Formats: sequence, structure tokens, C-alpha cells
Amino acid sequence: MPATPTITANRKKREKGKEREKAPDALVMLSGGLDSATCLYWAKKKFGHVRAITFNYFGRLENEKMAAEKLVMHAGLTDPIVVELPFLKEASDYYGRDPENPKAGNAAVLSSYVPARNLIFYSIAAHYAEFLGAKWIVGGHNSHDVMFFNDASKDYIQKINSLLKEGCLFCDGRPYQIVLPLAEMNRKQVIKLAMELHVPIELTWSCHDKQPMHCGKCYACAQRIEAFSSLGLTDPVFAKK
Ligand SMILES: [Zn+2]
Repeated sequence: MPATPTITANRKKREKGKEREKAPDALVMLSGGLDSATCLYWAKKKFGHVRAITFNYFGRLENEKMAAEKLVMHAGLTDPIVVELPFLKEASDYYGRDPENPKAGNAAVLSSYVPARNLIFYSIAAHYAEFLGAKWIVGGHNSHDVMFFNDASKDYIQKINSLLKEGCLFCDGRPYQIVLPLAEMNRKQVIKLAMELHVPIELTWSCHDKQPMHCGKCYACAQRIEAFSSLGLTDPVFAKK
């Protein structure tokens, strides 16, 4: 999907002033979903000067890319660092959906599994963090993610932090580190934090469908609907239908 004229105009405006920008305090891993959007606003409040980094892996939906761009624009940040990773596939894209194949991505969790995902993402973010002089890399894993993906656990991330500390040369004794502000939070708590931080929730994208609006039926939509309704709220992404 091509960028809208407004987005393009704003991008040009931001690019013009790029030379004058100082080093970000934090790099936020931004997918365009609710968790990473909440991290973006959390980091902005906590660290002040932040920049987003986003990864275009194989099959990433255009809606999600657009959501990330809109969130960055809404937050008044400079352009995100966009990293193209076309080889990086979810299990269902790699194996296909052949029911004969025991590893075929039929289950929601398996279909969204990417081997070594966080090791790859955080390594790339670290590469940029060191050059940019950012001291923090912010990841949006919540307590639910850890139940399915070991590479989202605090223990796993701590190990990556140790390696980053050992490897960096340009850190002047203050190595950049990964922080996970949502690690102890469930979906409801993330929604509450998002509201406190005035995150533009209506701009986020979680749906696995390619339709212009959230489908309301896929696994990701169902999780959002359940979390918002348990708080007595309507998810703004459905309210705008
Ligand atoms: Zn959906």
C-alpha cells in the first residue's frame, strides 16, 4: 500500500530536520501492535528522546507497517529505522499449512513462531543502538508472551544483555541494555497503562487478516476483544468500524 500524501509530506518535513537531531536515549522495538505502541509512549515519558525500530520480516502485513508509521507520526518522533528481513519467516510460512507435515503452522501459536526471532531482532537493534548512542532498547513482551515463547522471557533477555555488555566498544562504560516494561503485565494491565499514557489505541494493528479493518475473528482480534471487554471497554479499533 503506498504511503498517503499526508504521511509522505510529514516524512519529508521530518527528514529535513534530521541533521539537527541528537542521539536518542532509547530505541523502541515497534511492530504497530498495542504492546509495542504502549512501550513507545512509556519510553517517551521515561526517557524523553526516543526512536523506533521496526522489522519487515517475510509476510508482515501492510496494515501493521502503516500502523507503526502512524504511531511514530502521532508521537511526534523522527522516522523509524526500518529493517528489511525478507528471509525471516513464521513457521507457517516456512513449512506451509500442509496437514501432513507435523510442523505445519495450524495452531495460532506455532504459526506465529519465528525461530531465533528475538535474538535476531535485539542483535540488530543493538547494532543501531551502539552507533546512535542509545542507552536503552525497549521491548514489548508481556507476561502472556512468555507462556508461549521462551525467547521473550526475562531470563533469556538478561542473557542477551550480558552478551551486549561484553561486546560493545563504543559504550564508554555504560553499555546499552534491553528493558521490558510490560514483562510482568497481562493484557488488561497493558490496556490500562496504554490509557494512562494516552496511547492512540485506534491506530494500532493486531489483526492477522489483510482486510482494511480488524476482522474481529482471528486469534489476535479475539484476544483484544476479550481483554477490553473484561475491563468493560470497547476496543477503539472496533469502535471506529
Ligand atoms: Zn483479526
